Amino acid sequence: MARFGIMGGTFDPIHLGHLVTAEEARFQLRLDRVIFVPNRRPPHKDSTDVSDPESRYLMTFLATAANPYFSVSREEIDRDGLSYAVDTIRAFRKRFVGTDLYYITGADAIQQILRGEWRETEQLLEMCEFIAATRPGYALSHDDWQKSHIGRGYRDRIHTMEIPALAISSTDIRNRVRHGRPIKYIVPDGVEQFIYTNALYRERQPVT
Ligand code: ATP
Ligand code: MG
Repeated sequence: MARFGIMGGTFDPIHLGHLVTAEEARFQLRLDRVIFVPNRRPPHKDSTDVSDPESRYLMTFLATAANPYFSVSREEIDRDGLSYAVDTIRAFRKRFVGTDLYYITGADAIQQILRGEWRETEQLLEMCEFIAATRPGYALSHDDWQKSHIGRGYRDRIHTMEIPALAISSTDIRNRVRHGRPIKYIVPDGVEQFIYTNALYRERQPVT
C-alpha cells in the first residue's frame, strides 16, 4: 500500500521549518511522497492578513521543486470558500484510492485538533493519520492527550515526531522583511528572491 504525506499550510511564506518537517516525516514514516497543499482561505486566520493564494502557491512550488519526493497540489487553491482539511482529504481519498494518507502538522496544529477545532475533526482522523512535529514552545504534554476525548480516542492515529529545533515561523519572517532584517538561510534562495522581487510583506497585503 502506498503511503502519501499531506503537508497543509498557509505558507506565507514557506520556510525551512516546513521543509525539514516534511522531509523528516517522509523518512520516519517511509512515505512515498509528500504533497504540499497551500490553502486558499485558512479557516483559523484573518484572511485580510494573508498574501494572495497564487504567490503562496508559487513560493511553495519554488521551495519544493528540487526534492523528487515533494509535489504541490492546487486542490485548496482552486476550491472556493474556506479551506478545510477534511474536504481536501475526502478529495484525495477519491483520487488516490488504496493509498494511506498521513497529514503532517506542527504541534500547534495538533493542539487545535485535540481541542476539536478543525472541521469534522473525528471524521478527519478516521480518514487519515496525523504526524505532529514538535517545535520549541509547542510541546505536547501527557495532559494534552488525557484531557481531550479526541486525544484519548485517537491516540494511535496521531504520531509525534522529534525534529531539530527550528524556531522559525512565517510570522517572524514577515516581520523580518518588514523591518529590513535578513531572511537568508531561513527560507530557500528562490523564495527569498521571490519575496524581494514581488515586494511581499513590505506592508499589509490586500486580499485578492
Ligand atoms: P504563521 O506564523 O503565519 O502562522 P507558520 O510558520 O505557523 O505561519 P503555517 O503555514 O501556518 O506556518 O503552518 C503550516 C504547518 O506547518 C502547520 O501544521 C504548522 O504547525 C507547521 N509548522 C510551521 N512552522 C513550523 C516549524 N518551524 N517546525 C515544524 N512545523 C511547523
Ligand atoms: Mg501557523
